[in-house]
Amino acid sequence: NTFAEIDLGDALNQNIRRCKYVKPTPVQRYSIPISLAGRDLMACAQTGSGKTAAFCFPIISGIMREQYVQRPRGARTAYPLALILSPTRELSRQIHDEAKKFSYQTGVKVVVTYGGAPINQQWRELERGVDILVATPGRLVDLLERARISLQMIRYLALDEADRMLDMGFEPQIRKIVEQMDMPPQGVRQTMLFSATFPKEIQRLASDFLSNYIFLAV
Ligand code: AMP
Repeated sequence: NTFAEIDLGDALNQNIRRCKYVKPTPVQRYSIPISLAGRDLMACAQTGSGKTAAFCFPIISGIMREQYVQRPRGARTAYPLALILSPTRELSRQIHDEAKKFSYQTGVKVVVTYGGAPINQQWRELERGVDILVATPGRLVDLLERARISLQMIRYLALDEADRMLDMGFEPQIRKIVEQMDMPPQGVRQTMLFSATFPKEIQRLASDFLSNYIFLAV
């Protein structure tokens, strides 16, 4: 019933204490062990339920164990290991800020990219290295088309507020993004889908993107 009981690694546990999180919220309590066990996850979770930490903790913990993964260097293309997709600039910024706090002194690098801001600045930041990329779908497709980002090394994919992304018409972009991860050479991808509601369209997304997943409603 405390974070100390979950095996997330010392550095991350210290950051969790720094954030003054003591007890996991219900979505965290059930989803984090599932994600740490490597299973795909579809979680119905509302804003304010603590879902950001629910997908960030397993990603950061996993990357801390995988940072040795060799990525092409020197190129102008960035090779993130994790991708967090979110519908809006505001939400992406929020996720980025939280993820940065959680990954303090872990060596895990978090970068955010979204539309409506100069792309040059964002790709200069990407060139300096990125482990976890937080992005809105439109801007990410743009960066993919310019070959500034490759998704070939993605190990973790989190879709936050998936229902809202579909409401905003991002389904074609999301599908295009996920298709790029299916191109070889592909690592093992773990996917987490978070949505406040679970209509037909989200169910279809889950069955297309997730494999052998666990459904969680809290
Ligand atoms: P979220 O649903 O991810 O937007 O989180 C809602 C708010 O709850 C944010 O301000 C988080 O920092 C906070 N929060 C998330 N998990 C915990 C926790 N286990 N203990 C205390 N606060 C938390």
